[in-house]
Amino acid sequence: MAAITNHLPTAELQALDAAHHMHPFTTNNELAAKGARIITRADGVYLTDSEGNHIMDGMAGLWCVNIGYGRGELADVAARQMRELPFYNTFFMTSHAPVIALAAKIAELAPAHLNHVFFAGSGSEANDTNIRMVRTYWTQKGKPSKSIIISRKNAYHGSSVGSGSLGGMTPMHAQGGLPIPDIHHIDQPNWWAEGGSATPEDFGLQRAQELEKAILELGEDRVAAFIAEPIQGAGGVIVPPSTYWPEIQRICDKYEILLIADEVICGFGRTGEWFGSTTVGIKPDIMTIAKGLSSGYQPIGGSIVSDEVAEVMNACEFNHGYTYSGHPVASAVALENLRIMEDESLLDHVRNVAAPALAEMWHGLGDHPMVGETKIVGMMASLALTPDKDSRAKFAADAGTAGYMTRERSFANNLIMRHVYDRMVISPPLIITPEEITEMGKRARTALDESYAQIKEQGLF
Ligand code: PMP
Repeated sequence: MAAITNHLPTAELQALDAAHHMHPFTTNNELAAKGARIITRADGVYLTDSEGNHIMDGMAGLWCVNIGYGRGELADVAARQMRELPFYNTFFMTSHAPVIALAAKIAELAPAHLNHVFFAGSGSEANDTNIRMVRTYWTQKGKPSKSIIISRKNAYHGSSVGSGSLGGMTPMHAQGGLPIPDIHHIDQPNWWAEGGSATPEDFGLQRAQELEKAILELGEDRVAAFIAEPIQGAGGVIVPPSTYWPEIQRICDKYEILLIADEVICGFGRTGEWFGSTTVGIKPDIMTIAKGLSSGYQPIGGSIVSDEVAEVMNACEFNHGYTYSGHPVASAVALENLRIMEDESLLDHVRNVAAPALAEMWHGLGDHPMVGETKIVGMMASLALTPDKDSRAKFAADAGTAGYMTRERSFANNLIMRHVYDRMVISPPLIITPEEITEMGKRARTALDESYAQIKEQGLF
């Protein structure tokens, strides 16, 4: 058989893909009929496909390629590390310089009370660590009944059995026997979809107070932790009303519930700070990290743990870990990624250049007849599609129909923009320039115009 490389014709690669590769979160038979788009190269904020199209990646891959594509320094570091020490574990009372350096760097960047890192290969694995860590923490403190973790509907915390249970995605719970016991979900602070006639501020308070109600109902002696993304990402970039997080923090403090901030998307510059927790003003006990930690160049995740939790956990053997916890190559690449972010003042670029330009472009789309609220924090943004802005109405079709049409028109116009039901979301590489943002705005508007025409034609408006 000829080598399977980019040099094969697209159709041949698609046929082989369909024959042997099962895609995540995909109806594979549908994809096989259509043929996967084959991505061959990437540079900056642009992808190239096997047909020679240049596609602007409005999603930074899966919310992860924060420093953009094509940074050769990361490849050099990976090659050097592979030659020197491609693998060794961190289980057997052994360590190595890349993981030591990375843990120390993360502790330096994280809020002052978070100085300890337990590494994993992904965000899902890190959240599985968190489930076991908070339960073990309370057991070690003589309170083994504190095992319930409260999470939120429409949260995304990963795809493994544990992290998928933490998440609040009903289609995921419907497959494979999720959730595991002692996970409890409360409502999300999604004012646009669920706020009714309440003001956003009142609604934010109400939704936060559901945590207090749940703690009282379940029993303070049963609840271990609350987990949430500072800003829900995969759920549709749901920016909570300003009243939400202060109230959550008050409740966690009052009942001594551990607060886990899932920073897998929000972390490493996405919100204009190193961590979304800083942006929303909370003090978590544990932060989940992945994605932007290595800008997606290597699979790596972890849990950043407070001094207080680490003191308890470090006194016992935690029977937990992954072969690739603290993988030397992934650690070295993540470290180089953080070096680039610091040396090139990427957070300053986000705060002073990219995020203001993106906000202007994004809010500008708000005058489109089909666009309701436009929301943005730093470099993550969403807009609600609606047939009636004032009443925040839904379309006369299954939720997600209009979103899917708009996503398809966006892809056709060479912009990757995602939809979550009828919300469009973007999360571009942080290095994007104002000129590229202007171009993104043009493509997004064309996509909206084209899907609007289709939606009207089909009588959904
Ligand atoms: N938490 C959040 C907030 C995420 O967005 C994701 C991935 N989208 C995960 C956890 C899971 O990370 P991974 O896919 O690396 O397992």
